[in-house]
Amino acid sequence: MHGCGSCECSGDPGINDAIVNSKVEAVCGGGSSRGRRQRPGEDVVHPLKVSLEDLFTGTTKKLSLSRNVICLKCTGKVSKSGVSMKCSGCQGTGMKVSIIRHLGPSMRQQMQHPCNECKGTGETINDKYRCPQCKGEKVVQEKKVLEVVVEKGMQHGQKITFPGEADEAPDTVTGDIVFVLEQKDRPKFKRKGEYLFYEHTLSLTKALCGFRFVLTHLDGRQLLIKYSNQFKAIDDEGMSIYQRPFMKGKMYIYFTVEFADSFNPDQVKALEAILPPKPSMALTVVFSFVPWVEFEVEFC
Ligand SMILES: [Zn+2]
Ligand SMILES: [Zn+2]
Repeated sequence: MHGCGSCECSGDPGINDAIVNSKVEAVCGGGSSRGRRQRPGEDVVHPLKVSLEDLFTGTTKKLSLSRNVICLKCTGKVSKSGVSMKCSGCQGTGMKVSIIRHLGPSMRQQMQHPCNECKGTGETINDKYRCPQCKGEKVVQEKKVLEVVVEKGMQHGQKITFPGEADEAPDTVTGDIVFVLEQKDRPKFKRKGEYLFYEHTLSLTKALCGFRFVLTHLDGRQLLIKYSNQFKAIDDEGMSIYQRPFMKGKMYIYFTVEFADSFNPDQVKALEAILPPKPSMALTVVFSFVPWVEFEVEFC
């Protein structure tokens, strides 16, 4: 929350303080030369799909958006000359009341709705004064290309904000465009913070006879990996770390060995002849006795 006593605008935790302060100033009239109260505009939130590769190496995405901007010809005043009149349909209130039904001699049910003649603005304009550019809509559509910089190491769900780039409207502090990163699933690789997990399946023969394979990393580099027991940890080959461009976490490679469903007796004999002997199956049970200790508890 900010310290403005004259309005009910509240701080938005998702936006940095500087932006909130500029909004608050404008909402409270502090930054407005016209001295009119301005209401805060809506933020526009877009999901932005990115691959794990994008988050590993960083990327820039160009996105074309169309948005409303204040009509430059009439600067949002509807008419060429700035002449507008109170709407006769609603007497300038912007709202109309219609009676739905009579419930009794002195009771009736009524409903309030925005005035259809002035679209709830309370103003109408004579056709001959109407702005030819925006047809009295106060705003026109504009196409804009935004360059979204996805930095190395950013995360699924992280927000990238373009302050004041949402739809413009008269007497409104323009909201922000917010992109929320959505990481697409990636076969083989899983990411957890700064760690990367990679799963590799190999046959029993390869596991027994020694094995190497080429792992193509997220940036296209090829790493020669030698099979070792169950999993392998490699320093500095994990995920890029956000805002530390030269640092990476660990990569963990998990090996899954595919065992054969069954062996025939001859194969079992042959394997037993070359493999280390099986451990004996004798069951050892260890009993342990915990001595009983009594505590004296003092109550204060
Ligand atoms: Zn009206
Ligand atoms: Zn206009």
